Amino acid sequence: MTEDTSISREKKLYGIAAVPGIAEGIAHLYEREKFNVSDEDDEHSNEEQELDRLNNAIKAISKELEMVTAFAKSQVDADSSSIIETQMAILEDPELIRQIKLYIQTRKSKADRAVYDAFGIYIRAFRASDSELLRQRVSDLRDIRNRLIAHLHKSTTVQDIPGNAVLIADDLSPTEVVLFSKHKVNALVVELGGLNAHASIVAGALAIPMIINVAGVVNEVKNGDKVLVNAASGELIISPGKESLDFFNVQIELAEQKEVQWQKIKELPAKTSCGTEIQLRANLEFELEFENILTYNADGIGLLRTESFFIADVENPLDIAKQIAFYEQAVKTCRGKAVTVRLFDVGGDKVIRSGKEEDNPFLGWRGIRILLEKREILRQQLRSILTVAGRYPGQIQIMIPMISDLAEFDEVKREMISVQQILKDEEFPVDENVPLGIMVEVPSVALMAGEFARKADFFSIGTNDLTQYTLAVDRANPKVSNHYQQMHPGLWRLIRLTADAGQKFGIPVAVCGELASYSFAALVLIAMGIRSLSVAPPHIPDVKQAI
Ligand code: PEP
Ligand code: MG
Repeated sequence: MTEDTSISREKKLYGIAAVPGIAEGIAHLYEREKFNVSDEDDEHSNEEQELDRLNNAIKAISKELEMVTAFAKSQVDADSSSIIETQMAILEDPELIRQIKLYIQTRKSKADRAVYDAFGIYIRAFRASDSELLRQRVSDLRDIRNRLIAHLHKSTTVQDIPGNAVLIADDLSPTEVVLFSKHKVNALVVELGGLNAHASIVAGALAIPMIINVAGVVNEVKNGDKVLVNAASGELIISPGKESLDFFNVQIELAEQKEVQWQKIKELPAKTSCGTEIQLRANLEFELEFENILTYNADGIGLLRTESFFIADVENPLDIAKQIAFYEQAVKTCRGKAVTVRLFDVGGDKVIRSGKEEDNPFLGWRGIRILLEKREILRQQLRSILTVAGRYPGQIQIMIPMISDLAEFDEVKREMISVQQILKDEEFPVDENVPLGIMVEVPSVALMAGEFARKADFFSIGTNDLTQYTLAVDRANPKVSNHYQQMHPGLWRLIRLTADAGQKFGIPVAVCGELASYSFAALVLIAMGIRSLSVAPPHIPDVKQAI
C-alpha cells in the first residue's frame, strides 16, 4: 500500500512488524551480485579439477559460517547458534553434496552449474511445500548456493554497508542479517520474509528492528533516501516531512519510557487489576531462541515447534540423541517451568515423500495424519520426549498438531502408553503423568470441544490455522490475505466454544496462535476465561503491560 502526502515527497509503505522497534537512517539497497552460471554440459570440463574447486568452496564457506556463528554467539550470548548450524547442515548434507558431484561426474557440469542445479532441486521442493517453515528455508538454501557460486567465481556476496544505514532488500538470509549487524545497520526492511523465518528470528535475537512483507519496497526506495522505520506498526516512511519527524521523535521517547516500564514489570507476575494471574508463555522453535525465556521472563514454553528436525537434517530427521538433547536443553532453560512440546507438524510430500503431489496440501497429509501413518517417526519422537520427561518429571507436556478427529487422539494416547511401557521395561525413569493435549486449529475440534475435553489434558488454540480453516483462506497466499481476518466473529465463536468446554470439563485452555500477541485480542481472550497465552517472546512486554 502506498500513500503520497502533499506536504513533502514523503511516502509511506506498510508491512508486518517482525522485530518491534524504531529506527531512522539512510536507505541502503542491498542487491546481491548477479552471477552467470556456466553452461550445463561442457565436455572439456576437467572432472577432478571441478571436484577440487567444489571441495575448496565448501571448506571456505564452512569457515565463513563458523566465523559468523562465533560472532552471533558473542552478540546474542547464546550457547548455540542453531540457526547458522542449519545453514551448516545444508552445506554438509550428504545427499546434496552427492547430487552436486554426480552432475560434475556424469553430466560433465562445471562446479558452479552443478551447485546451481543440485540446489535447484531442493529449492523447488521446499518452495512447493505446504509447510510455511519449509518455504521460509528457501532463503537459507539460496544463500548457501549463492555463497558457493560466488566463491567459485572468486567474488563476495555482501557489500560494504555505510554507517547509519537502514537496509532495504528483497529478502535476507540469517547469515546476511548477522553480517549486516556487524556493520551496525539501524533496521532491516524486506519485501518478502516471514514472521517465523530464520532471518526474522536472528534479527530478533540481535535486536535489530525489522519489517517484512513490504510490497514494492525495493522499487520505491532509492539509495540515500532518508527513512524512518516504525517496526512496531510495520511502517516505513521515505523522505519524511516535518509532521512525521515530530511524530517519530515522540515515538522514540515513548519507546524509551516503555523500556523503563518493562524493566519495572519484568519480574512481576502477569496479573490483571482484579488479581487474576495469567500464564504468559513463549512460542519457540530453535535452540538459539531459548535464552529468550529468561530475557522475557516467560512462564515456560507454551509451544515448542519441532519441525526444524526435518529442516536441519532432511536425510536423518529422527536422530533420537539430537531430539533428546534439544528437549532437555529446553527444559533446563525453563528452570522448572513447563515445556509444551508439539509433535512434528510437517506436511507435504517434500519432507516425507508420499509419492504424490497434493492439490490442496493444507487440507492434505499434514501433522498428526502423517505421524499416524509413519508410526516409527511418531514413536521415536515420543520416546525422545518421554525420555526427557522421565528425567524431569512434571515439566513436560505433549501437544498433538492438526488433529481433527477423536480417534486420532486415542491412537496417539495408545502409542504414548506403549512407548512408556517400553521405557519402563528398559528400566528408564518414566513420568506417568505427562499431560497429552491438543492444538485446537481445525473447526471440527472447536465444534466438538466438549468431547475432546473429556479425553485431552489441555487445549491450546492455534488461531493461525483455525483462522485459515474457518474462513477458507490460505494463510500463506498473499492474494487472499485481506480475507485472513483474525477478528472475524466466526473465529471468535469457535474460541468461545473451546474456552467454555475447557472450563466445563476443568482442563486448561491456552492460545498459542499469533492472535494472542495482539494486546487487545489478548484481553478479550482473558475476558473469555482463557488463562494462558503463548506468544513470540518479543511480544511478551506489550501483552504483559496490557494485562
Ligand atoms: C497455529 O496454527 O496457530 C499455530 C500456533 O501453529 P503453526 O503456526 O505452527 O501452524
Ligand atoms: Mg498450526
